[in-house]
Amino acid sequence: MTETIRVKTTKHTSVVNITPQVKDIVSRSGVKDGLCIVYVPHTTACVFINEGADPDVVKDIIYMLEKLVPWNDPRYEHGEGNSAAHIRSAVIGNSRVIPVVDGKLALGTWESVFLAEFDGPRERKVIVKVIGD
Ligand code: ZN
Repeated sequence: MTETIRVKTTKHTSVVNITPQVKDIVSRSGVKDGLCIVYVPHTTACVFINEGADPDVVKDIIYMLEKLVPWNDPRYEHGEGNSAAHIRSAVIGNSRVIPVVDGKLALGTWESVFLAEFDGPRERKVIVKVIGD
């Protein structure tokens, strides 16, 4: 089963918790034992899994990513002027694989699945594929 989640980001950098939508797709897939692939087909966006309980963790991740990969750098060559968004996306990665056990995502207690967009606002697609059984 493959479904697409559509996410409208609202800021230049947005991190959106998509765990409820991913869980819903897994639940409706009927798969009890398998894998859930979460994939973003966009070059300035990425998917990551991290703490969803304390929103300050995501704030700190954004803060440090912006510090590690500055928006402006005289050596950037990409003409669109959004190289930092491409680099942040590439460093984090555009997909994650989550085990499905007993019909549920095997996320840790504090874990959530996030879409991040670094050159928004934009409307983004997240492709979720559930395989197994
Ligand atoms: Zn670009």
